[in-house]
Amino acid sequence: MNSTAEVVIIGSGIVGSSIAYQLTKAGCRDVVVLERESHQGKGSTGKSMGGVRAQFSTPVNIRMSLFSIPFFRDFEAALGHPSGYRPQGYLFVATAQKHLDYLRANFEKQVAHGLTTAQLVQRDDVVRMVPQLRSDDILGGSFCSTDGFVDPYSVMTGFMLRAMDQGARLERDAEVIAIDRDSKGIAAVKTARETISTRIAVDCAGAWSAGIAKMVGIDLPVEPLRRMLVPTEPFDKVAHTAPMTIDMSTGFHFRPEGRGLLMAWNDPDETPGFKTHFERSFVEKILTRAVDRVPVFEELEVNPSRAWAGLYEMTPDHHPILGAAPGVPGFFFANGFSGHGVMHSPATGKILADLILKGSTDLIDARLLNFERFAEGRQIEETAVL
Ligand SMILES: Cc1cc2nc3c(=O)[nH]c(=O)nc-3n(C[C@H](O)[C@H](O)[C@H](O)COP(=O)(O)OP(=O)(O)OC[C@H]3O[C@@H](n4cnc5c(N)ncnc54)[C@H](O)[C@@H]3O)c2cc1C
Repeated sequence: MNSTAEVVIIGSGIVGSSIAYQLTKAGCRDVVVLERESHQGKGSTGKSMGGVRAQFSTPVNIRMSLFSIPFFRDFEAALGHPSGYRPQGYLFVATAQKHLDYLRANFEKQVAHGLTTAQLVQRDDVVRMVPQLRSDDILGGSFCSTDGFVDPYSVMTGFMLRAMDQGARLERDAEVIAIDRDSKGIAAVKTARETISTRIAVDCAGAWSAGIAKMVGIDLPVEPLRRMLVPTEPFDKVAHTAPMTIDMSTGFHFRPEGRGLLMAWNDPDETPGFKTHFERSFVEKILTRAVDRVPVFEELEVNPSRAWAGLYEMTPDHHPILGAAPGVPGFFFANGFSGHGVMHSPATGKILADLILKGSTDLIDARLLNFERFAEGRQIEETAVL
């Protein structure tokens, strides 16, 4: 079967869906989204912790969050679908002077870039916010009241439903197997069933993006890295209004989820690869860190069969790769979010729609996140990665 499209988006996760929404909103209605699975959300989007924050260390990440978080707040009014945004905050808990110095340096950048809801907090403030924390070594922290959580699946669905209302076509069970080029650049995107003639293709395949880039001869530095999450059984000894709480001494963090909690810890021994099974031995590792910081977690119950694993899509500098591919006219990247793709999906949709339709964007300095930065030695390291 042959067809045509103005733009073909490869991957229907939260990022591809956001781009489809913004393109169609801007009047580019002939958009096709190709998804290899039988339904949306089976990549990283459906595995995410749903955290959204503006407490970053680099101006470009702060800027993307300052666009995205109000977007989540206003999502339902604008798109007619809930985002599940809960502004319960992110609380970074410092236990060493170097943590305090780091949080202060970040805070100053955040304020300089227009964030008004972040604050540095004292030990007593931390204890007041989450009284269950073991506090003997806590020195202070930082808190941002507009940080919080969203429902990634609902956001993705909202973007896609509205994109489809505006003319986009979503094709499921449509794995991209090849991309044709001619002397002008991209010529067609192929699935087993269909060849879609197009001049523009966007690589939104998340942790699988490097495989798509290879189809046009580009080595994309995006690597899959497993992350595991552990939900608890119902637990009411920590308030359900508690913020996302990050113990900077170990990286252990948790937030309320349903009647229980959702716990995360990034195992430094994890190695890159397409590993998506949950390792049961992780439960003991995370509970050790959990109980150390929150002694009442000794009473927590965890059912390992409810825990899950998914993939971060890591780049060497922990920032996404956005924009046109050098040497392949019509090929665009929107991947490599290094664990921040949910929170930055609104900004990414707008940036990509601007770059595709106008060749420039006012939202960020797009040069900062282009593919060429790696060859040109312009990496911008983000250290506030959870
Ligand atoms: C455990 C965990 C916790 C996380 N927590 C957070 C968090 O708190 N906050 C946050 O912002 N981010 C978080 N993330 C990261 C976030 O989930 C991702 O950055 C985000 O979902 C990326 O969205 P995406 O649309 O780019 O990728 P995906 O959701 O992975 O979508 C890519 C899609 O491409 C499809 N695809 C792949 N290859 C092909 C092909 N050949 N043809 C057609 N389709 C193809 C896949 O099936 C998939 O549906 C977390 C991730 C994990 C794993």
